[in-house]
Amino acid sequence: MLPDLPLIDSFGRLHNNLRISVTDRCNIRCFYCMPAEDVQFMEKSELLTFEEIERFVRVVVPLGIDKLRLTGGEPLVRRELHTLVRKLAAIPGVKDIGLTTNGILLADQAELLYQAGLRRINVSLDALSPEKFRKFTRREGFEQALAGIEAAQRAGFDPVKINAVSVRGLTEEELVPFGHFARKTGVEVRFIEYMPLDADNTWERGKVLFAHEIIETLSSSIMPLIPVATESAQGHGGPATEFVFADGIGRIGLIASVSQPFCLSCNRIRLTADGKLRNCLFSLEETDVRGLLREQGHDNELVAAVRASILAKKEGHEINTARFIQPTRPMHSIGG
Ligand code: SAM
Ligand code: SF4
Repeated sequence: MLPDLPLIDSFGRLHNNLRISVTDRCNIRCFYCMPAEDVQFMEKSELLTFEEIERFVRVVVPLGIDKLRLTGGEPLVRRELHTLVRKLAAIPGVKDIGLTTNGILLADQAELLYQAGLRRINVSLDALSPEKFRKFTRREGFEQALAGIEAAQRAGFDPVKINAVSVRGLTEEELVPFGHFARKTGVEVRFIEYMPLDADNTWERGKVLFAHEIIETLSSSIMPLIPVATESAQGHGGPATEFVFADGIGRIGLIASVSQPFCLSCNRIRLTADGKLRNCLFSLEETDVRGLLREQGHDNELVAAVRASILAKKEGHEINTARFIQPTRPMHSIGG
């Protein structure tokens, strides 16, 4: 039996955070994540079952994984997601379960998910108008996403956060409305710099609206933003730097993945919907754990595979260098 040593990589980073993708399917087609047409989705038989996911989590929790986040694709298109939440919440040692969703199916599921033990929700919403929403997502669904946010707040989720990808030429005119929205609703709005994980390979650095520009606009248009001390670089704020408006009302988060990479404090690993373990969003290699799960592999083999993946983790993503190579899996198939 291998001792339950923590998951520390060769750069001294401790890993306690597992993001689990439950599907690569989605009900919309955000341009920064998915192709517009002809998406090649995974076969149902390729997806990890809820029982397989549960077993994997039971194996990694003794290694120090205590924070889980369900994602996708759109996790709420996976049927009965609340039953997975219930299974995961019952595992001793799991301290925190979150969900990242586009919110379109959330109004119907918020209550069930809360009862199953989910407590944190991030809703991805890039714009506060239906027209701009359509530009980002190439689909309808704006009103449903807003209704999902309201339903999550009513169900008791705390915090509810919005994730908005910041894209030059699209996001600028959303900043002030989002600032006022954060102030009015108590929902923290987090802007994520657009990363090179799109399916169409059209990302360019020039298309990223940078975090410092967002702070400047919000501070000059509404009122100064003051940094908030968070418990740790990768605590509940995750990789976001958090701010509050000077009068204490309205929280804004900035995830400066491109302009200020936070790789040196990364504590995350990712399990794709088809059972591949990835030690980085931008990783070019992955470890097959589905094979081990399906071939009745012993828990020790799973532990060894996880440790090997962690030890192979690179120092950082290299987006800002000429060496950068975009992964072949786009974001919807990795799990953001
Ligand atoms: N469908 C769910 C959603 O949209 O929230 C979960 C999956 S989505 C891939 C997870 C997060 O990744 C979302 O907040 C989305 O905005 C973000 N994302 C996707 N592609 C991105 C990109 N190229 N750059 C930055 N963030 C991205
Ligand atoms: Fe779907 Fe989320 Fe990707 Fe948008 S970001 S296409 S909602 S998986």
